[in-house]
Amino acid sequence: MNIARFPRLRYGHLPTPIELLNNLTNYLKGPNIWIKRDDCTGLSTGGNKTRKLEFLMAEAQAQNADIVLTVGATQSNHARQTVAFAARMGIKSYLLLENRTNINDINYRNNGNILLNQLHGTTIEEYPAYTNMNIAMENTANQLRKKGYKPYTIPVGGSNPLGALGYVNAAAEIITQGNDLSISFSHIIHASGSTGTQAGMITGLLGNNSGINLLGISVNSPKEILEKNVLLLAQETADLLKCPGIVKDNHIKVNSDYVGDGYGIPSPETIQAIKLLAEKEGILLDPVYSGKAMAGLIDLVRKGVFNKDDNILFIHTGGTTGLFGYNSYFNDKSQ
Ligand SMILES: *Cc1c(COP(=O)(O)O)cnc(C)c1O
Repeated sequence: MNIARFPRLRYGHLPTPIELLNNLTNYLKGPNIWIKRDDCTGLSTGGNKTRKLEFLMAEAQAQNADIVLTVGATQSNHARQTVAFAARMGIKSYLLLENRTNINDINYRNNGNILLNQLHGTTIEEYPAYTNMNIAMENTANQLRKKGYKPYTIPVGGSNPLGALGYVNAAAEIITQGNDLSISFSHIIHASGSTGTQAGMITGLLGNNSGINLLGISVNSPKEILEKNVLLLAQETADLLKCPGIVKDNHIKVNSDYVGDGYGIPSPETIQAIKLLAEKEGILLDPVYSGKAMAGLIDLVRKGVFNKDDNILFIHTGGTTGLFGYNSYFNDKSQ
């Protein structure tokens, strides 16, 4: 897979480390659990969108864009990383944020990612839940064109074939790191939302003939729907890389048992998983994505899904900044 033919802006702190979660492994008495620190990719507290934006923003630059637009939920990590990326490029950004959770807490609305968006300097437009955000973004882009701007639009989560290349690369990075550590990872597990991470990852794992199983823990959609959408994007990504046909439907595995009450609503198990990692490993997860995915991993280990000598790699996709928008979920001082 020759990814180097796609322009890329090297703003990420890459490669990110892989570490053994020794205390968690001992606590759960299951397989070895490793963590890939994609929460440390740089750009305004980091996260998985940095890898995608390296390719997307290179395209924006090639098109001479002077303003980048994207969409997301109020506490979108993708939106915040896009704004930071644009700041560093010296171009404007414009966010269309959907109040998808209907949480009205003052910190949810003003702190966390919202605070960082404001610090980097951007324009934010708020929309009610269930707005068709793609149409809203196209309308805004057209208005900006009329004013003489050259807008570049990025879909939700940066999840199109070009953005997914960031995770094709991450798959190759993990394979190299496993080789250097002499660790053969049996499974990779991560939070899956807008499909770009999982689609890129599976394309990279298959393109390198890795034999590693990939499981996406859904943060929102039912299993069947997310599997279908990941498959579509993975096949488009493989086509972009001129490797058509390498991704088949049986390669796409999603578990949607840990969604709870829906997107952006942490379940009691999410909160427990965040506290457990903070207390046992000194690592901060997030309430929307990595906390849910870790709750899923912990439950699957307890159910005996893995062998004791398996090496499981959890991708920490970031989002820690969101904790400051969700502090009300952690306010029980008795714990
Ligand atoms: C966006 C995001 C994800 C999900 O990645 P997708 O590519 O949208 O599936 C996971 N974790 C965090 C912290 C995110 O911001």
